[in-house]
Amino acid sequence: MKGFTTKIVHNDRQRAIEHGAVHKPVHTSVAFGYRDARDLAAVFQGEQSGYTYGRQVNPTVDALEDKISSMEDGIKTVCFGSGMAAIGTAIFSLLRPGDHLISSAFLFGNTNSLFTTFDAQGIKVTFVDATSADMVAAAITPATKMIFVETIANPRTQVAALEEIGALCAQKGIVYVVDNTMTSPYLFQPKNVRASLVVNSLTKYIAGHGNALGGAITELGLYDWAQFKNISQTYRKGDSQLWGITQIRKKGLRDFGAALAPEVAHHIAIGAETLALRMQRQCDNALALTKHLVCHPKIEKVYYPGLSDHPQHRRSAELFRHPGAIFSFELNPEVDLWRFLNRLKVVINSTNLGDNRTLAIPVAHTIYFEMGAERRASMGIKDQLIRISAGIEDLQDLIADLDQALD
Ligand code: PLP
Repeated sequence: MKGFTTKIVHNDRQRAIEHGAVHKPVHTSVAFGYRDARDLAAVFQGEQSGYTYGRQVNPTVDALEDKISSMEDGIKTVCFGSGMAAIGTAIFSLLRPGDHLISSAFLFGNTNSLFTTFDAQGIKVTFVDATSADMVAAAITPATKMIFVETIANPRTQVAALEEIGALCAQKGIVYVVDNTMTSPYLFQPKNVRASLVVNSLTKYIAGHGNALGGAITELGLYDWAQFKNISQTYRKGDSQLWGITQIRKKGLRDFGAALAPEVAHHIAIGAETLALRMQRQCDNALALTKHLVCHPKIEKVYYPGLSDHPQHRRSAELFRHPGAIFSFELNPEVDLWRFLNRLKVVINSTNLGDNRTLAIPVAHTIYFEMGAERRASMGIKDQLIRISAGIEDLQDLIADLDQALD
């Protein structure tokens, strides 16, 4: 089975099928019992596969994890209660005080906030312009253990030098973490740029319906964890490709407890089946809307990797199937931001992205408000900047809505 959607839709049936069920059933039991207590002990000790307690894994969550591994062409996935839980838990499990983390400076606001918290706890964090591999290389120190980038950055849509950073990490033995949320595995597989771990907020494109929070970390099998000193002795057994993700599941998910509920995993799995169909339409809408807005006299600037004047237009075309479904634009200074937003009738004033509905948000006043004016300026975020997450609505309705609000 080769096609992206064919694999997602049929993935559950690669395993033992329960009662002929076409869909993976929702298993809500928190605990799992064994007739022979020795089997329970063997599962606990990692000698036998199986389920023990829902905080670590559950059959419904496990099925979703398999599905995400298949989408990312990875070897193992761990799911969490949100995208932030996935990022936080992965870093908490793998880094120690004194370690150095290099992060793209163009970052989702909460990830930026989380990294400043880690920095205050003793993990040194350096934010660099990751559109340039030279800038990233210049920031590497002997203590650098991890490099973290997003594919297309929020909200100005910069595209990181994903391939060059991958080569750098491979050469230096640094763990390379790529947040694929903005592209989703349909547009881009970070394995192609030699990522070690992939982050996905399942809340966004993978679920698509905006009715479930979830996150995932996928091990791609390209990093040899035997060289990573922070893997505890307990997890240094078996295939060394799996040591990192095992420590994330055991030290991170089990001990920290940010588990994904099976009912939520079920909702995400249903959404995931239509990822390619939705994403195709959302990207088409984003491209058509940006081409329309670029010519509008009340718009100062449009940021979208699909436009030929975008600084990373060529890189985006080389790396991604489509340039994504997120774009942002600055209104002319004389246009009242609030009046424009309040006149939208189809587009919804809301945070979140990847929903089937088109969403608009004035980023400087909301998701990037807390980081302060100075950091916003360094990220190129102006007060008149609006981020749009293109939905699946009919294009003409979206164009008409934006036009009437601008008029
Ligand atoms: N990563 C990126 C790029 C995001 O945009 C977001 C949320 O918007 C997250 C991670 C966090 O995901 P969640 O909201 O599921 O915690």
